[in-house]
Amino acid sequence: MSKILFATSEAYPLIKTGGLADVSGSLPRALVSQKQDVRLILPAYADVMEKVGSCKTIASQVVDGLTVNILETRLPGTKVKTWLVDCPEYFDRPGNPYLDEHNEDWHDNAERFTLFCRVVVAVALNQLELNWQPDLVHCNDWQTGLVPALLDEAPQRPATLFTIHNMAYQGLFPFDTFAKLSLPDHFWHHETLEFHDYFSFMKGGLVYADSINAVSPTYAEEIKTPEFGYGLDGLLRYRQSVVSGILNGIDTTEWNPGTDKYLVQTYNRRTLSKKQINKAALQQHFSLPAEPDTLLLGFIGRLVEQKGVDDILQALPALMELPIQIAILGSGQPYYEQDFLDWAQRHPQKIAITVGYDEALAHQIEAGSDAFLMPSRFEPCGLNQLYSLRYGTLPVVRDVGGLKDTVTDSQVETLENNSATGIVFSKDETLVEAIQRLLTLYKDTPKWKQVQHNAMQQDNSWSHRACAYIELYEQTTGRNPRPVKNA
Ligand code: ADP
Repeated sequence: MSKILFATSEAYPLIKTGGLADVSGSLPRALVSQKQDVRLILPAYADVMEKVGSCKTIASQVVDGLTVNILETRLPGTKVKTWLVDCPEYFDRPGNPYLDEHNEDWHDNAERFTLFCRVVVAVALNQLELNWQPDLVHCNDWQTGLVPALLDEAPQRPATLFTIHNMAYQGLFPFDTFAKLSLPDHFWHHETLEFHDYFSFMKGGLVYADSINAVSPTYAEEIKTPEFGYGLDGLLRYRQSVVSGILNGIDTTEWNPGTDKYLVQTYNRRTLSKKQINKAALQQHFSLPAEPDTLLLGFIGRLVEQKGVDDILQALPALMELPIQIAILGSGQPYYEQDFLDWAQRHPQKIAITVGYDEALAHQIEAGSDAFLMPSRFEPCGLNQLYSLRYGTLPVVRDVGGLKDTVTDSQVETLENNSATGIVFSKDETLVEAIQRLLTLYKDTPKWKQVQHNAMQQDNSWSHRACAYIELYEQTTGRNPRPVKNA
């Protein structure tokens, strides 16, 4: 049994902005069910405190002149012991963990996440008398990037794994900010955390972690190339002997069409025809015409370039000519939101959008749509296509990252051997052409149903993927040159 400290800046159901929260909520739970001793650690944001109510203070420490308490709770609905880093000056703010009410980064994000990393390091080195020391700290994304770098200063330390959920967000700050953080001077160097005159939190993980992984095998390869590496591809190639890819799993309790509490009608593979009831409800919700036979395409996600939003907008004039409907849930760049709102106003029979974040509606779109649109320019893993597969909602995806690893294109051969699960398009095909192919498949009801069955049968649970993490933890502790005594 390994002792794992799982450090993250968001975890569902306590706080969520995207896929990182889904993974941080479900992987620790899967690890605990495989007998690992896991503690989850994250900041005690105002929204988190509202969800957990009062909890016990188990340690206090002064960090950067501020009093920090460690609060203990359990991740709701699980046995996962959870430690909350309570520093009201930095975390007792409403709303998004990273953005203020104007959708701008909090002005003191560098200070906030440096403090968080310092506390994680103190816990990792058992300096807070919690009577527990991890063998390994599992760090996730830039907000935890300083942990491997700071731990490297210790004479003995737990091993460190840094998981890349998205290379595009690196935690970059100017020198003046770095100068205020009271970090070791040698962190400002191009071989350490300096990156083209900026201070990079992510480089802390990439330079110092004993192991690095990305959330899909294809993304782990892609980030070693200039096209996807955001300037860090050289460093990743340099460290390639410790870089690997493990696909994300999904929480199969939360995302289960057979028991989903948000649906007007639950269904499974054997009762697939009942999916239609969810489609009718969704058309009604979005005020789209109640046409049971018109292909309904869903989209859920952040409205940012990464998600292929430009491609969707560019395709819309042609798509409006096809016998389809489109239901969108998302928020992000205001100009994208406005563009979709304009399209929806001009074509209310064909396209509708809800701008915002809505967990229940996300489930209803997964269940009520026939197909799911996910033409991401890059996608580290992607979770929505995995939910779609489970809900018999065929994903239409670009052949990148985790999308390529999890969806099998419907072609003559894959239709024959029952491995087809959706539409995967590459550079040779446009999004409109891909959707035309989808429509052809949709019109062939027996084939469509077979592909739905193939999709719903695919196992994207955590069970064997958590085993892959346990193996990686073991390899990583083996790589640690200065293990702590109980390691
Ligand atoms: P990313 O982490 O890049 O945003 P993922 O596909 O990995 O993308 O995960 C996104 C997660 O956030 C999914 O669980 C998805 O359902 C959810 N999500 C994204 N946007 C919304 C929204 N507007 N409302 C509800 N859930 C959303």
